[in-house]
Amino acid sequence: MSFDRYARNSMRATVLHAFHTPLRTEERPVPQPRGEEIVVRVKGTGVCHSDVHIADGEFQEVPLPRVLGHEIAGEAEGLGDVIVYAHWGCRRCSFCRSGQEQLCPEGVEAGWVRDGGYAEYLLVPSKRYLLSLEGLDPVHAAPLADAGVTPYRAIRRIRAWLQPGATAVLIGVGGLGQFAIQYLRDLTETRVNAVDRDPAKLRRARDLGASDAVLVEEAAGLGPESAQVVLDFVGSDSTLGLAAMLVRRAGIVVQVGIAGGTTPFGMGLLSPEVHFTSSVSGSLRDLQAVLELARKGGLDWHVESVPLEQVNLALDRVRRGDVLGRLVLVP
Ligand code: NAD
Ligand code: ZN
Repeated sequence: MSFDRYARNSMRATVLHAFHTPLRTEERPVPQPRGEEIVVRVKGTGVCHSDVHIADGEFQEVPLPRVLGHEIAGEAEGLGDVIVYAHWGCRRCSFCRSGQEQLCPEGVEAGWVRDGGYAEYLLVPSKRYLLSLEGLDPVHAAPLADAGVTPYRAIRRIRAWLQPGATAVLIGVGGLGQFAIQYLRDLTETRVNAVDRDPAKLRRARDLGASDAVLVEEAAGLGPESAQVVLDFVGSDSTLGLAAMLVRRAGIVVQVGIAGGTTPFGMGLLSPEVHFTSSVSGSLRDLQAVLELARKGGLDWHVESVPLEQVNLALDRVRRGDVLGRLVLVP
């Protein structure tokens, strides 16, 4: 394999220097691996809505300057095409030892705390975070690393509520929500009602298997206590409020979207015995399971590739909601 990091010592990266400012394309040294570290030549990085939240200053704890991007696929020396598991834990705590590195209190995530995939090369702490793509195209597969795995884990965790005949309401049919509909369709016998503010997303939801799809301003019409499960892929005050209204007693609301919303919790404010939980990404094993589903051909996700230099246009399109599935930056 010709691995051109040996021939070059600088790379293009797009870097967030200050919140609310455009990313800057610049030349940086190609990272040099030490010890267990390994370098990935990036082939595609998905643009997650979380990257917009970061760039817009909603997560001030993200250390700057930062190379964003946590949905990364590329090529690693000796391993071929790989997808990157972006949650790098301490590997000592109980979460890491039980295979939930995404919950490690000392964990660092590519594109948040460490530099991510909006660049030509990525430094990864260990090859244990690289899973072989085995025939999947890296540009197409990149979104599986987050948009694919996060709803998979969220749904896996709430299987007890997803009995045959139950109703699940899914708010936000974007990059993540479109995977969620397919897992509910294929892994449960639940009826899915999709909610979005964009009619094109409602059409997509029906195509992917939702029984019904309604505009968010009409969603209250689904009725109070009408769903055993509400999955909120937006996470604003208004969508969490909608979820709290729709969920049936003893049902569950899962917040995946991180738009900064909150909702009051307390006896008498919600239907009796309602559960509220958040869900964060997935484990390495979840990602492996999602890759297997993708290889079997059962998942359909839309990808539009965009040159890395057009990162600010891409972020703007995600901000405006002008994306059918996922944009993937290609260096
Ligand atoms: P996206 O932009 O691809 O999709 C968002 C969808 O929600 C779009 O279809 C949009 O039309 C719809 N929408 C927006 N506001 C709405 C509203 N008020 N009512 C109804 N529909 C609305 O975003 P994405 O990449 O799928 O990410 C979704 C959310 O999940 C983001 O907040 C993102 O940061 C978050 N996220 C969380 C995790 C996690 O681990 N918890 C992982 C990845 C992304
Ligand atoms: Zn993400």
